Amino acid sequence: MTITFLGTGTSQGVPVIACGCEVCTSPDTRDKRLRTSVLIEAEDKTIVIDSGPDFRYQMLRAGVKHLDAIVFTHEHKDHIAGMDDIRAFNYRQKGAVDVYADIRVQKALVREFPYIFDGTSYPGIPQVVVHPIDLRPFSIGSVNFTPIEVLHYKLPVLGFRINDFTYITDAKTVSAAEKEKIEGTRTLVINALQKQTHISHFTLDEAIAFAYDIGAEQTYLTHISHCLGKHEEISKELPPNIKLAYDGLKINI
Ligand SMILES: [Zn+2]
Ligand SMILES: [Zn+2]
Repeated sequence: MTITFLGTGTSQGVPVIACGCEVCTSPDTRDKRLRTSVLIEAEDKTIVIDSGPDFRYQMLRAGVKHLDAIVFTHEHKDHIAGMDDIRAFNYRQKGAVDVYADIRVQKALVREFPYIFDGTSYPGIPQVVVHPIDLRPFSIGSVNFTPIEVLHYKLPVLGFRINDFTYITDAKTVSAAEKEKIEGTRTLVINALQKQTHISHFTLDEAIAFAYDIGAEQTYLTHISHCLGKHEEISKELPPNIKLAYDGLKINI
């Protein structure tokens, strides 16, 4: 199975108007971060976790020609805003795309995209089949997901374990019981926003402490604000088994 980081950035401090800082002006492509999302390519299924505002461009950039499912972590705009663009996959695949979301995220999708769910069959609107999820394991084809509940300040967010790989974004607190589900993970992805304290996101130090706690062979940091600094410079501060992820990075799990 291959994981491609489609985006490793965040709307928090996202440079919409280039602020002129050394990250915005960096020629290093690893400093150009779209909103956080990953592509999972298994033999039988192609899945994305989250479809934020950059979804369309991320699909084009990664050359994704077929999409079976979207799995949502939570309903913040940087994770759902691009779902409308699945219509291109509907058209090409002549069918709906499966969407996996918990009940709270489902309500948000209905609120944000009422025209998808109001029963009208206006031609060309996105077609989805919603699959309710909760904290119980579920499978999409051969890909087995174990949801991990983390807290994003007070908001519960889902992380996912797939075999020895665990993907968590937008965490600030993880309970001991949920950490137990991550035990034995060989590859961990965890969010690290910036160095300064933040109410709902791990800082770099908190993410490193979490990575040590889990003890994965390799940890990748994601959901990175441009305020964290340049990829090359921050990378020098990290232990060898903790790396900053970057857009386009592929790993095999
Ligand atoms: Zn969020
Ligand atoms: Zn986010």
